[in-house]
Amino acid sequence: MEKLFESMYQLVVETSTKLPKDARRAVYQAKLRENAGTRAAMSLDTISQNIIMAEENISPICQDTGLPTFKIKTPVGVNQLEIKEVIRKAVAEATKNGKLRPNSVDSLTGANSGDNLGDGVPVIKFEQWDKDYIDVRLILKGGGCENKNIQYSLPCELEGLGRAGRDLDGIRKCILHSVYQAQGQGCSAGFIGVGIGGDRSSGYDLAKEQLFRNLDDVNPNEDLRKLEEYIMENANKLGIGTMGFGGETTLLGCKIGVMHRIPASFYVSVAYNCWAFRRQGVKIDPATGAILEWHYQEGDDVDFSKKVEQAPAAVEGNDSPREVVLEAPITEEQIRSLKVGDVVTINGRMYTGRDAIHHYLMEHDAPVDLNGQIIYHCGPVMLKDEEGKWHVKAAGPTTSIREEPYQGDIMKKFGIRAVIGKGGMGPKTLKALQEHGGVYLNAIGGAAQYYADCIEAVDGVDLMQFGIPEAMWHLRVKGFKAVVTMDSHGNSLHQDVEKSSLEKLAQFKERVF
Ligand code: SF4
Repeated sequence: MEKLFESMYQLVVETSTKLPKDARRAVYQAKLRENAGTRAAMSLDTISQNIIMAEENISPICQDTGLPTFKIKTPVGVNQLEIKEVIRKAVAEATKNGKLRPNSVDSLTGANSGDNLGDGVPVIKFEQWDKDYIDVRLILKGGGCENKNIQYSLPCELEGLGRAGRDLDGIRKCILHSVYQAQGQGCSAGFIGVGIGGDRSSGYDLAKEQLFRNLDDVNPNEDLRKLEEYIMENANKLGIGTMGFGGETTLLGCKIGVMHRIPASFYVSVAYNCWAFRRQGVKIDPATGAILEWHYQEGDDVDFSKKVEQAPAAVEGNDSPREVVLEAPITEEQIRSLKVGDVVTINGRMYTGRDAIHHYLMEHDAPVDLNGQIIYHCGPVMLKDEEGKWHVKAAGPTTSIREEPYQGDIMKKFGIRAVIGKGGMGPKTLKALQEHGGVYLNAIGGAAQYYADCIEAVDGVDLMQFGIPEAMWHLRVKGFKAVVTMDSHGNSLHQDVEKSSLEKLAQFKERVF
């Protein structure tokens, strides 16, 4: 059992800190396709740096280490209860060591268990098979992309694409629509797993199962092979791009599976995964618990530290952006001078705030003076050393749209001038930015190591009763880069990209299959 514990711990750490080779190649290819100096190229540079740093520091690629989901196949006679127990111990140990963020909360009270264990967490699914080894696969899929999963019940009407019927062409439309609706919010460019058929739950299971396939495999079903190729070729024409900033690459992989269904139901389920495609797998010796082999080792690796040759920017409005330095407290005048597309470098203080903090601030005073300050939508991975000092292990942005009901009111109430997050916010916040003189800054989603490196010190923490990811951390940063995607003049890059991608989506309305 000790060896099995070691093997499972290694699997968790490797999955959290290192992208598998096929995903690395896909991200690298995306980098080659972008034009030099664009926002997409800048984002992919940051992502590349982040991948290197996570690997070198053996730290989480993204601070959201998701819901650990294990898929295990065992030979007949293997004790599954023992494996389950060992996995739970390995997950708790990896959490204690800062390789996973404590992510398991009570659904009713919101209380964080602190060790990633809880009812149904981690997810562990077993299957028996007739091979003589144990196969364990693990995926760490974060909330930002999980929230962009979507399920279609055919026939249906789709924005931009019209009617999707109960046939291959209807499925084609659903898949294209799933990429469109995700925009940049699931930290695009992304990977999708599609499940055709089943019921609502088995359809989603099948979709998620596809994410374990190797990106270079060839679908044995000829219709699905053609559909996968079609989607890869055409989804990238939507122009959503990395982080939804616009660009050449929106989708990095598409794998489609099919199962039977009952005549009355026809589901197409899509599991969307961000660029931080953390899934690994091992073959285990049932007698010793040792790792026999790692999965996803096929093909060449890529060197992210090597400078790539990119063509010069040719797209109007997507060329080299203006760069501005900001340090809190920020004045209204400084904010009003910022425009969508500017790249901002932040030095000095910022405060983290996620769902619990925003909810709290609606009804309470702030524990610190937030006038002119910056709020960072971030749930970091933190570790306390023996002297009681906190260290940031991972600190990328979290999905901002969850704060839409509160954000504008809170900015006005406390005089906050800037919020940083990812994926953009809605019309209520945009209006408040205009009225109050505020700005929304989009950081690069998933770049948890890159941003952790920008944090020079943790100067304090408030509201720890909400747990580590939700507490208000006082951070001192240097060289923290983000892009203005919503300004105080009513402009929103997110709205613009959504509008143009909807127009592009409409060109795929005609029947193809
Ligand atoms: S890269 Fe983005 S979507 Fe993926 S886990 Fe991290 S924050 Fe969530």
